[in-house]
Amino acid sequence: MDGVGRRGIDGSARRLRDWLDRFLPPACAVCAGSLARRDSGVCQLCWSRAPACRFPRCRRCGIPSADTGVAATDATCLECATWLPYLRECRAPYVMAGTAAAMVHALKYRGWKELAEEMGRRMAAARFSREVEAEVALIVPVPLSATRLRERGFNQAELLARSVAKYRGLPLAADLLQRRRHTRRQARLLPRQRLRNVRSAFEVAGEPEAELASAHLLLVDDVLTTAATAEACVRALCGAGARAVSVLTFARARRQLAGKGG
Ligand SMILES: [Zn+2]
Ligand SMILES: [Zn+2]
Repeated sequence: MDGVGRRGIDGSARRLRDWLDRFLPPACAVCAGSLARRDSGVCQLCWSRAPACRFPRCRRCGIPSADTGVAATDATCLECATWLPYLRECRAPYVMAGTAAAMVHALKYRGWKELAEEMGRRMAAARFSREVEAEVALIVPVPLSATRLRERGFNQAELLARSVAKYRGLPLAADLLQRRRHTRRQARLLPRQRLRNVRSAFEVAGEPEAELASAHLLLVDDVLTTAATAEACVRALCGAGARAVSVLTFARARRQLAGKGG
């Protein structure tokens, strides 16, 4: 199907949903139950069931110690021991499971863009170490390729980054980082393939802004699975003058965590 046809169908589906919304009470994107007036897209029960990334966890990559065997929060784990030194810390308020995974899917694949505001608000509340908190100065979303952006119509990472920027009171550089080429979907690849897939897939657009020089950036995405995408972004950003990058995602994938235990 060509892009125009697909957009046409998406447009009709959206119009149908808008039309239905006028007659039906708003429903939760996860459980389809009815929403209270103050809820934005997901009900309070589904939020309360979202699995949190619990303490104690690795001080650097934020993986809960239950998945790594690291005993104390002030220790680091083997998972992040081989990461680039410029990739400073990662945080995610939730584990990619249950209702948290359902929210990621609703936003990314079912077009529930209104979820990004509250998801981003909760991401913005995640805390890094004191040094990182003091340093981060600019928010950068992980970009989609032009092809995927045409297919989906929006970049979920950018919507989340907008909300994080608003709640953290930091500037957003939405177009700073760009995807050089279309990469295969990471979800279907093994960890080693992921790294090969995204290596050199990103570049900093045009002349890097003065604000990038020596800055500590906060890279935002929906899910962190392996750090392959993050490391490829860090290479591009630090190659263009940034001093360090920390990563904030809504959820942390469990598949990798489970793999560590084996
Ligand atoms: Zn619900
Ligand atoms: Zn770690």
